[in-house]
Amino acid sequence: MKLKPLVCVFAHPDDEAFGPAGSIAHFASQRDVYIICVTSGDAASVKDKDSLAKIREKELLKSAEILGAKGVEFLRFTDGSLCNNVYHKLADKIIQKIEKYKPDTLLTFDLKGVSGHVDHVVAALVTSFIFQKLKYVKTLLYYCELKEMMEQIKDYFVYVPPGYNKQDIDLTIDVSKYWDTKLKAMRAHESQKDDADWIIGMISKFPKEEHFLKLEK
Ligand SMILES: [Zn+2]
Repeated sequence: MKLKPLVCVFAHPDDEAFGPAGSIAHFASQRDVYIICVTSGDAASVKDKDSLAKIREKELLKSAEILGAKGVEFLRFTDGSLCNNVYHKLADKIIQKIEKYKPDTLLTFDLKGVSGHVDHVVAALVTSFIFQKLKYVKTLLYYCELKEMMEQIKDYFVYVPPGYNKQDIDLTIDVSKYWDTKLKAMRAHESQKDDADWIIGMISKFPKEEHFLKLEK
């Protein structure tokens, strides 16, 4: 019997590639995977917002294709705008998309947003709310990083939360088989080349594994 779809909820184009890309490729080899991208990553550049959003949406489409995802949904919230004020509007929009696919599994960031980016935290909280609300969703996977990895990026952003101890992790996926695919997806984000190069250099020092916390009903 074919597995039910899995839907990923991310805040920005590149979260899928710089995050659990290997696992997305792994899941996509077993079942239909869809990516919901809440913003179009229109904040960080000298380019005007609309043209940057278009470029970044195209990059995500390319990355998603490389990873074997079946489709991408853009919600087009403004990059950096996610907060309490949009919580229910965002939840409603995500649910509208999810209803089409009826996934039994959702995948998002851990509740610390991995890097502490507030957009990631909001995406994780809203996805948790949706997980509780929709009966047919049985599993929620929170992508997270180990302590050793987060040590490397603690000056990356504003407050970067610590990572997890190995014993706190519920699911570790060996992504060595998908490593080249993962790097290719990261490089598809050409407008984020500096970040991609830096992250590739860093993750190459660690085992080819991705980690998740798991909630089940
Ligand atoms: Zn992000």
